[in-house]
Amino acid sequence: MPGEFDFISWLRQHQSRSPLVRLGIGDDLAVLKLPADDLLLVGVDQMMDGVHFDSAIHTPRAIGRKAMNRNLSDCAAMACLPAAALATICLPKGVGEDYARELYLGMTEAGQPFDCPVVGGDTGSWSGKLVVSVTILGRSAGVEPVTRSGAKPGDTIYVTGPLGGSILGRHMTFEPRVKLARYLAGSGTITSMIDLSDGLSRDLANVCRQSGVGARVAIESIPVHDDALKMSVPNLDADVVAQTRVAFDHALHDGEDYELLFTSSGTPDVGTRIGEITNTTGIIGTYRNVPEPLTPRGWEHTL
Ligand code: ADP
Ligand code: MG
Repeated sequence: MPGEFDFISWLRQHQSRSPLVRLGIGDDLAVLKLPADDLLLVGVDQMMDGVHFDSAIHTPRAIGRKAMNRNLSDCAAMACLPAAALATICLPKGVGEDYARELYLGMTEAGQPFDCPVVGGDTGSWSGKLVVSVTILGRSAGVEPVTRSGAKPGDTIYVTGPLGGSILGRHMTFEPRVKLARYLAGSGTITSMIDLSDGLSRDLANVCRQSGVGARVAIESIPVHDDALKMSVPNLDADVVAQTRVAFDHALHDGEDYELLFTSSGTPDVGTRIGEITNTTGIIGTYRNVPEPLTPRGWEHTL
C-alpha cells in the first residue's frame, strides 16, 4: 500500500517554483526570501466536504483549485500579491494517492497564474470526510493593504461583477480578482474592500460594522448574474415583477460570488455603483424607491 511518504516524494518532484522560494517541499520548513520593504500578509481558509464542495460530485482537481482560489481571493480583498501557499489535507482513508495528487495539482494549477506555488503542507488520513485547508502568504509589493475598516460616510459602494446563483457551479470555478484589486488599490481612492464569499448582505454588514458606519443600497442597481435569474424562474408563477425581485434577493444574499465589494472616496473606472456609506448604523435597501431594512441572510457557520 502506498503511503504518505510515497506521496511526499511525488510532491517533491512535482512542486512548482517561484523566485521567492529558496526551499520548497521536502524539508521541515520552506524558506522564502521576500523583498525587504514588503509587508507579509497571512491567512488560512479551510473547506469541508458537504459544506464547501461535494466530493460525490466535484473532482479532486476542482476541489483543489477552489481551495487555492478562495485564498487567492482573500489576497485580492487585501490587494496583496500571493507569494506562496501551504496545504493541509485530511483524506478519508482509502481514497488513494491519485486522489491526493489531483487535489495538489488543482491547487498548483490555480496558483500558477499568480506565481503562487504550494511550498509545504501536511497530509493525514482518517475515518471522516475530506477536509482541505490552505494557508496563504501574500506580500504588499508596493500597495498598502486595503482593510474592511476604512469606509467613511459619503463613500460610494461598488461591486466588481454580477452576483447571485453561484451554487449552479460558479462557486467552484471563479477567478480571484487579484489583478483588479491591485489596480483599484493602486489608484489610491479605495477606502475598504472585501471579497464576496458569504453574500453581499453579510459581507457589506461586516464592512459597515468594522468601519463603524451604515450603508444605503439601491437594490435595482446590483448587477444580477444570469445564474440568479435562472434560479428565480421556477420559484414563481409567471409574475415577472416578483421573479425579478427573487433574482435580486439571490444577488443580495447568496454567497461565494468571489467578486470584490469596495468603497471609494473617488470615482474609479471599474466596478458597478450600488450605494453609498452613511453615518447612521444599519443598512437600508431601497427597492423601487421603497426603503427596507437589509438584514444579512448570507452564509454563516453555526457553532
Ligand atoms: P514533518 O513530519 O516534519 O512535518 P512531513 O512528513 O509532514 O514532515 O512533510 C514532509 C514535507 O512534505 C514537508 O516539506 C511538508 O511541507 C511537505 N508536505 C506534506 N504534505 C504536503 C501536502 N499535502 N502538500 C504540500 N506539501 C506537503
Ligand atoms: Mg507534517
